[in-house]
Amino acid sequence: MTDKPITVTSPLLPNLDDLIPMLKDIWDRKWLTNNGHYHKELEKALAEYLGVKYLSLFTNGTLPLITALQAMRITGEVITTPYSFVATTHSIWWNGLKPVFVDVEEETGNIDPEKIEAAITPHTTAIMPVHVYGTPCNTKRIQEIADIYGLKVIYDAAHAFGVHVNGESILKSGDMSTLSFHATKVYTTVEGGALVCHDEATKKRIDYLKNFGFAGETTVVAPGINSKMDEIRSAFGLLNLKQVDSAIASRKATAEKYREALKNIPGIRMLKDIEGVRHNYSYFPIFIDEKQYGMSREALYEKLKENNIFGRRYFYPLISTFSAYKGLESANPANLPIAHKLADQVLCLPMFAGLDEESANRVIDIVLKK
Ligand SMILES: *Cc1c(COP(=O)(O)O)cnc(C)c1O
Repeated sequence: MTDKPITVTSPLLPNLDDLIPMLKDIWDRKWLTNNGHYHKELEKALAEYLGVKYLSLFTNGTLPLITALQAMRITGEVITTPYSFVATTHSIWWNGLKPVFVDVEEETGNIDPEKIEAAITPHTTAIMPVHVYGTPCNTKRIQEIADIYGLKVIYDAAHAFGVHVNGESILKSGDMSTLSFHATKVYTTVEGGALVCHDEATKKRIDYLKNFGFAGETTVVAPGINSKMDEIRSAFGLLNLKQVDSAIASRKATAEKYREALKNIPGIRMLKDIEGVRHNYSYFPIFIDEKQYGMSREALYEKLKENNIFGRRYFYPLISTFSAYKGLESANPANLPIAHKLADQVLCLPMFAGLDEESANRVIDIVLKK
């Protein structure tokens, strides 16, 4: 008999009995999308929960990245990180812009601010960093550089739902931040996302752009896209918002358990909590030094699989190695040594709200025994 499968993630699901009356209400209203009742409620509730003033809901977490670049009229080159999910760089491509990869910090996996200046050219107009695993970027240093060179900063905050630094939402950093509410994320609306900005005029422009560019019944102000969230997923999202704090608490308990159990294994590095940061424990990456640990990341990944435990290699392979981008000068591995090192060492262990003790122990046992 094999043990039951343990997936790397499992979606946060609202109570079905709570969802059904909301669905009945949607049926009664006969209004399914286009800024409906639940859409408006969720937009308001999310802005409040996240501690931001202006937030626009989207149908996933990729379209707000694409729309952010369009809304800010970014041109030329955008500095970004290869250590992320492909959607980050794809959004630059979709705007007809050139991505320029900069290496990351070993400690966090986030873009290394000290390497940004060397990548700036007369064509650079923006920086698109990612708060990888929900660990805040060095936003202060990035903003200093952006201000010196007159660049915009758009954060891909897909991993950073609910993350605070010294009591302030991380989403207040930069010119805009994007969120993903995909089923694999800390907070989910099935598929979904949002774009956070800091003034009313920009939110208005974003709302036009996510609705084909319509600024009225007969006026189209720009070639916008369709990225409207519907009523059903808005209702789902409203219910999930009520349980996201307890979901984060459950993730934290698992993270503490893993950390305690794995802390003395030579060759295994884990992320630490940073003082003043409210983490969301969106992922639990471990970084394996094959020489010290005595087993490669690939071998451990396979070993876990043999035991019906499914880790994920986030982020391997690097975005800069994919065919669309590998020809770029900045994609040269010699330019990205730390990113390559992390991509070769990383393995994300199962991490989700409600991961039971027995499952966590099974994961720990394999990592300990090898
Ligand atoms: C999940 C994710 C996205 C894309 O979000 P979708 O909702 O899947 O479109 C973008 N960037 C990062 C870093 C992500 O992890």
